[in-house]
Amino acid sequence: MELLRSRAELEAWRRSRAGGPLHFVPTMGALHPGHQSLVHAASSDAASSVLVSVFVNPLQFGPQEDFERYPRCLDADLTCAAQAGAQALFAPSVAELYPEGEQELTRLMPAESLQQVLCGRRRPGHFNGVATVVARLLGLVRPDALFLGEKDWQQLVILRRLVEDLGLPVQVVGCPTLREPDGLAMSSRNRYLSSEGRQRATALPLHLRQAADACLQRREINLGPLCQDLASQLEQAGLVVDYVEAVCPQSLQPRRQLTGLTLLAAAVHCGPSRLIDHTFLMSRAPIVAIDGPAGAGKSTVTRAFAERLALIYLDTGAMYRAVTWLVQHSGVDAREAAQVAPLLENLDLQLSTAAGGSQRVSVNGHDVTEAIRSPEVTAQVSVVAAHGCVREALTRQQQAMGQRGGLVAEGRDIGTAVFPDAELKIFLTATVSERARRRALDLAQRGFEVPEMADLEAQIAERDHLDSTREVAPLTQAEDAIEVITDGLSIEAVIEQLVQLFRQRVPHDAWPGG
Ligand code: AMP
Repeated sequence: MELLRSRAELEAWRRSRAGGPLHFVPTMGALHPGHQSLVHAASSDAASSVLVSVFVNPLQFGPQEDFERYPRCLDADLTCAAQAGAQALFAPSVAELYPEGEQELTRLMPAESLQQVLCGRRRPGHFNGVATVVARLLGLVRPDALFLGEKDWQQLVILRRLVEDLGLPVQVVGCPTLREPDGLAMSSRNRYLSSEGRQRATALPLHLRQAADACLQRREINLGPLCQDLASQLEQAGLVVDYVEAVCPQSLQPRRQLTGLTLLAAAVHCGPSRLIDHTFLMSRAPIVAIDGPAGAGKSTVTRAFAERLALIYLDTGAMYRAVTWLVQHSGVDAREAAQVAPLLENLDLQLSTAAGGSQRVSVNGHDVTEAIRSPEVTAQVSVVAAHGCVREALTRQQQAMGQRGGLVAEGRDIGTAVFPDAELKIFLTATVSERARRRALDLAQRGFEVPEMADLEAQIAERDHLDSTREVAPLTQAEDAIEVITDGLSIEAVIEQLVQLFRQRVPHDAWPGG
């Protein structure tokens, strides 16, 4: 474990360290297990080295705030960071980090819209100071990944945007909030609390959690009264409320109604400490919609993604295939909606997960898991899926399956028609030639005959055309979907990208795991 006090020492350490990614955990010191959990997350990849910084940044404290008395305990911090697995600790003085003085410093100013709510509104200039120091540190450390706590949610959102807007080549990883056994979020400022104050402080997480629990499975929640009620409860518990606000977790814009995942955040004064905490309100568990053309690798990626985040995997393509299989086995003409419709009346279509995690598909009591992958079914599935009656029946069934959320659904119109309110919408795609190459590999592995590449490409292009021009729910990218082009990416790389996108929208606090 190395202690680096100057920029020169930092640069020398950067050069001497073994290869592998450099992971960075910026802090203001007075390290506690919450900070340590960030270091653990940063060192979960064995090849990486982890640098922690300790710097009490004067730029982010207001004139009446606790800059002077903020706890400083470098020796204990060194031990704490080393125990958690950090390789180095960068602890510059103010003069070392701002050698020309604060007056001469180039400063950053995050978007006004992200600053005019929550702590930004009550602490003018605070996030300018945070953005300025973090940008400065990123320039000096030049890490591959930056680890930040979800505990300071507004800070996390602002720094993600900073990295995006400045095009900085660093991945931002949000980490879950560590709490004391009684629920109080760990914070360096908890040290200021008297034992009586410490008791009182537990009302903050308690009432936040109760407000969140009350929202589950409810529709039509007015957030204004909910915030007022919460503020009164906190005041009654002896805390001085600075704010209680409900906002969109990404844009941080105020919300009046519970429409989708919502951040409920509060700041209170408890004796000498200003404490912040938050929870996420949701009426159902999160939903992820993954759409895209055939052969883009959706099923493989979605299955693994679902497993990683403990979401239920809803393979809607398998449902359309199962109906296609039924149509073919009933001897009716797949092109005739009037012949297909009666089959849907008593349709018993089940998706289940077998031991070992593999998904089984059954239709009217027949296990069709393998049969629906045959070239015959593949050849006709678009025709069957294009019938309005088929889409309506399956969309209804899918929406019923998604009522409680907690799932990832994959298909062609999930983000547009089935779950338009999904928390994350992905449009997963790849070029026609890449998809043809993958289809050939897949067919060969399954023991089917492999057509010429040109024919495969033509088939895929034809299917794209059918899927995107059909009248009912054509394959289109939802306006708010994120396009992920998978050419040249390994399956693991795609999954990793999806997990990151998920985490930008759905924090650990709202859906743990992954
Ligand atoms: P600070 O030293 O308070 O500036 O925090 C440094 C980093 O640690 C920030 O990214 C915080 O969000 C994070 N952090 C602080 N407290 C906790 C906690 N209880 N659990 C997880 N992360 C935390």
